[in-house]
Amino acid sequence: MPRPPYPRNVADFNRMFPDEEACVAYLAACRWPDGFRCPECGHDAAFELPRRRLWQCKSCGHQTSVTAGTVMHRTRTPLLTWFWAAFWMTAHKPGLSALQLRHMLGLARYETAWLILHKLRRAMVDANREPLKGTVEIDEAFIGGEQLGLRGGRQLAGRKALLVAVAVEVRGKGSGRVRAEVIPDATAPTLSRFIVRNIEQGSSVLSDGHRGYQGRDGVAAQGYTHLPRTQESFRLAGTEDVVPHAHRAISQLKAWLLGTHRGVGADQLPVYLDEFVFRWNRRHAPMAGFQTLLGLGTHREPTTYGQITGREATGRPRRRGRKTGLTLATDDPRRGD
Ligand SMILES: [Zn+2]
Repeated sequence: MPRPPYPRNVADFNRMFPDEEACVAYLAACRWPDGFRCPECGHDAAFELPRRRLWQCKSCGHQTSVTAGTVMHRTRTPLLTWFWAAFWMTAHKPGLSALQLRHMLGLARYETAWLILHKLRRAMVDANREPLKGTVEIDEAFIGGEQLGLRGGRQLAGRKALLVAVAVEVRGKGSGRVRAEVIPDATAPTLSRFIVRNIEQGSSVLSDGHRGYQGRDGVAAQGYTHLPRTQESFRLAGTEDVVPHAHRAISQLKAWLLGTHRGVGADQLPVYLDEFVFRWNRRHAPMAGFQTLLGLGTHREPTTYGQITGREATGRPRRRGRKTGLTLATDDPRRGD
């Protein structure tokens, strides 16, 4: 039996999740789509203890938490709040800032909204995702550095833009799936590693004439068909854009970072790139991401607050990361309320 359906709109949501107990039942149904099965002894009957979010095996007494392995594990926040957050994160196409979520759900603390959103974002990376294939355009771009939100010349020191590599499948005139990662430089070894991580061997890779795609460490050496397009060849052909799909993705990425999040700190940029990729790749069926965001049906280790903020290693807040220059610092967990 497949997992239960996801809510497609607000009416669905209200019908499916009237209260906390409905959320617990939904988690159990996602965990055991074929009915309860004790992980300890294999027995198929249990007592439900919804208030404690537990199911207890009738045979051996083993207790299984319905939130184990989900982003909600050990949370004191009501499950219904998490469900609403996942719903709005998927239903609202560009996504939400923590401030928006806090207002929408009437949360007392900004920090709660921030933590929920970041846990949902961590669930956006699918470790088993399929590599891009077919014909794939690749390009790299600096994100940030436009000095927006900077408070003066002195703060420019150390605030360099981050380099991001983007790969997009070409599907006729349209675009297929996308990948984006922060990369340390645009050398051939770095770009080749990005390509190998994200694009299936044997695919055709389109790039501009940048040296990092050429040579003995370049694209062709990694088992791809490299189709370099140079400005010159396009000038001759009468068009200007060398990798139009990649450029479109990059400009949408920049607009999204500024529009939805009003900028992002450099240390958080990789997480936001994952969100961008997640949304882009599901843009035709966004609500299908509802269960993925909550971590249902995965066995991912839950992310702790310390891992997200960097407090875990040292036991105290990490120094504020370097900014991309896109930052207006609206999405800061230490903003308080
Ligand atoms: Zn048992």
